[in-house]
Amino acid sequence: MTHGQDGREGRVGRVGRMGFAALKRCATAIGLRLSFGLTLCAAIVVGAFVVAQGFSPAIAQQPPANPLAPFIKIQAPVVALVHARVIDGTGAPSREDQTLVIRDGNIAALGDSARTPPPAGATIVDLTGKSVLPGLVMMHEHLYYTTGPGVYGQLGVSFSRLYLAGGVTTMRTAGNVNGIMDINISRRIAAGEMPGPDIDATAPYVNGPSSFLQMHAVRSADEARAHVDYWANQGSTSLKAYMQISRAALKAAIDYGHRRGMKVTGHLCSVTYGEAADLGIDNLEHGFFAATDFVADKQPDVCPGQARGQQTIAALDENGEPFKSLVKKLVDRHVALTSTLTVFETFTPGRPLPQGLDVLAPQLKDAFQRAYDRASQNQQSVYAALFPKAMRLERAFAKAGGTLIAGTDPTGAGGVVPGYADQRQIELLVEAGFTPAEAISIGTLNGAKYLGRDARIGSIAIGKQADLVVVAGNPSTTIADIRRVESVFKGGVGYDPQKLVDSVRGQVGIW
Ligand SMILES: [Zn+2]
Repeated sequence: MTHGQDGREGRVGRVGRMGFAALKRCATAIGLRLSFGLTLCAAIVVGAFVVAQGFSPAIAQQPPANPLAPFIKIQAPVVALVHARVIDGTGAPSREDQTLVIRDGNIAALGDSARTPPPAGATIVDLTGKSVLPGLVMMHEHLYYTTGPGVYGQLGVSFSRLYLAGGVTTMRTAGNVNGIMDINISRRIAAGEMPGPDIDATAPYVNGPSSFLQMHAVRSADEARAHVDYWANQGSTSLKAYMQISRAALKAAIDYGHRRGMKVTGHLCSVTYGEAADLGIDNLEHGFFAATDFVADKQPDVCPGQARGQQTIAALDENGEPFKSLVKKLVDRHVALTSTLTVFETFTPGRPLPQGLDVLAPQLKDAFQRAYDRASQNQQSVYAALFPKAMRLERAFAKAGGTLIAGTDPTGAGGVVPGYADQRQIELLVEAGFTPAEAISIGTLNGAKYLGRDARIGSIAIGKQADLVVVAGNPSTTIADIRRVESVFKGGVGYDPQKLVDSVRGQVGIW
């Protein structure tokens, strides 16, 4: 896609319109004025057309237009959000009628409205009846999407906008089949050249030989080290192991990744959760949906099939010793668990149709609708029992002291739409039994702590970066209000979610 289609008007287009506007004004002037007016108008019109052709050195020397400008709603040196309800991301109860001052991209002041006057000259935004929460820090996101059977299309540009529109200000890409795009988009967003969240760009999956057409096969510990080295040198900042990796290759990736400053997560199958914890992994994806620890005849280094593992989880005694000792091991070894209930919800009969489908290209929207109908009619689906069970297991893990973080995984059947799904994931944590404040904390501060960035992001506090989501209503009592996003501040700049979404509507799946 060219830049002309990304929601921006090109410079020539803008200047050309100015030329026509000048021409219109001059047509009026010609009717009213004498020859001086005519001469001036002739100069304006000729000048405007020269500029429209791109020949004006004066215009050419101006700095390029801010590519973020079409998406920005609020930007000022000092912004005061007044009469806001603040849900700070720590899990603490919300606070009513607060003033929050943003200066130089950071939170400069925060307190009760009565005792926190906005600074002189501040741009005032009245948030009566509205709430502010921290920008979401989501940990199982992707810049690709299932566009056809076995084919993953890179949708980095549209996805970046949708994530930001949904309130995500920081994310990990958690594996990909094209590491370069994640790295480049992460850098371009950091440089202010594209709108989107801050990105922890995960390297392409570290996996053994598999049937995935777009995945590299790592056959040994040496090859795992070479993979880690190559992608660390390119600029990847984290690693994700995948379903067919061997314990030896996983061990090498973990040890070498840590030496290169990269944390390692895994969507595992060939290696059990317990084995991976013993090898020193930092994080496991998909709650307990991907655990093969309880498959009776599990062969070392062999994936028995994800479905086999899921049957054992659906049948697992959640109060039994095997599950409790696995949880204890994960807690003792500080292995974080990423909840991605959103992707599994799309396979589960009787669940509501996901939000955001109208941003998809029509063919993909139709393909998901067919998959959704099939899932709804499947009387044998393991997910009918597995989905609520997995919610209880994730809650038990957190209650036992485990670090639960949140993500969405926009893959699967195609109904996990970035941004919309991130809001849904927080709602599903509430359905799983967390309070709204706890669910928001899992989706904000817990992610920031995992990334080692909680000194700067993940909660609302004086001195932290102003990454904030403004929503109508009160998500601390009605979690669905998390969908009513009015603006998303990243580094103190307030973006307009509607403009971000409108710029990609109907085209997600193409670019
Ligand atoms: Zn994933």
